[in-house]
Amino acid sequence: MRFSVLSKGDSTSNALMQRIITYLQDFELIYDEAEPDIVISVGGDGTLLYAFHRYSSRLDKVAFVGVHTGHLGFYADWLPDEIEKLVIAIAKTPYQVVEYPLLEVIIRYRHGGKETKYLGLNESTVKSTVGTLVMDVEIRGEHFERFRGDGLCVSTPSGSTAYNKALGGAIIHPAIHAIQLAEMASINNRVFRTVGSPLILPAHHTLMLKPVYVHDFNVTIDHLNVMHRDVKSIQFRVADEKVRFARFRPFPFWKRVHDSFISGEG
Ligand code: NAP
Ligand code: MN
Repeated sequence: MRFSVLSKGDSTSNALMQRIITYLQDFELIYDEAEPDIVISVGGDGTLLYAFHRYSSRLDKVAFVGVHTGHLGFYADWLPDEIEKLVIAIAKTPYQVVEYPLLEVIIRYRHGGKETKYLGLNESTVKSTVGTLVMDVEIRGEHFERFRGDGLCVSTPSGSTAYNKALGGAIIHPAIHAIQLAEMASINNRVFRTVGSPLILPAHHTLMLKPVYVHDFNVTIDHLNVMHRDVKSIQFRVADEKVRFARFRPFPFWKRVHDSFISGEG
C-alpha cells in the first residue's frame, strides 16, 4: 500500500508527519506522494481541505485520514497520541471506507471560452467584487428569486458545520446527498424579496445563479478564492464524485457535532 502525509506546516505537525512516515515505512508501506492509496493530513480541517484539492484528480482511488494538532476537527478527528493505534490500523487491517457527497460548481462565461468546473468539499461562496451582489436564482430551470445582498453560500453536508453554520444554515448529516443554499445578509424590504431561509436541494436538482448587472464575481471553493470575469452563469449540484474517508473506529457525525460545538468532555 502507498501512502502520503501532508502537514499544516507548523513544527508540531511537521514532527508528527515525520513520525507517521517513519512508522508506516517500518510496516513496509511505500511513501508515494504522487499516487497514494491513503492520504494522512496532519493539522486541522483546513489541512484536510488542502489535501483534498491536492488529490482531487484521483478521488476514486484515495482514502483520507485527518489527524488534528490543534482543536478537534470534522475531518481531522484523530488525536496525536492515537498515532501508534492509527498506524497499526492502517498497516494491518483492511479498513472501512465512508463516502461523503461533494459539491460540483460549473462557471460559464458570456463570450464563450471553456467553462470552469470545480469540486468542493465544504462549500462555494459567491460575492460581488464591487458593492451588493445581485443574482437571479434559478432552481431546476425555474426562476426562484432575485437575490440582493452580501453573497450566497452553497455547501455540502460535511461542510454544513463550517461557513454555512455561521450563516444560520442547518447541519446536515453527510449520509444525505444534498446541497444547501444559505444567504449572506440579503436585502429585504417592500421592493426586494428573498426567501430568507436556507434551502436544501436533493441530488440532481440544479441550482443556477445568473448575473443581473455586473458580471465579475469572487467565487470561493473551500479555501480557494478566484475572481471570475464576464460570467454568464454559476451552476451548483451534488457531484457524481465522492470523497472517501478511511474509518478505523466509530466516531459518529452527531458526536463530532456535539464534541465540537457543545462540549468536548464526552
Ligand atoms: P480558516 O479560516 O482556518 O477556517 C475557519 C474555521 O473553519 C477553522 O476553524 C477551520 O478548522 C474550520 N473548518 C473548516 N472546515 C470545517 C468543517 N467542515 N466543519 C467545521 N469547521 C470547519 O480557513 P481554512 O482552514 O482554510 O478553512 C476554509 C474554510 O473556512 C472554508 O471552507 C469555510 O467553511 C470556512 N470559513 C468560515 C467562515 C465563517 O465561519 N464565518 C468564513 C470564511 C470561511 P481548522 O482550524 O481545523 O482548520
Ligand atoms: Mn484552518
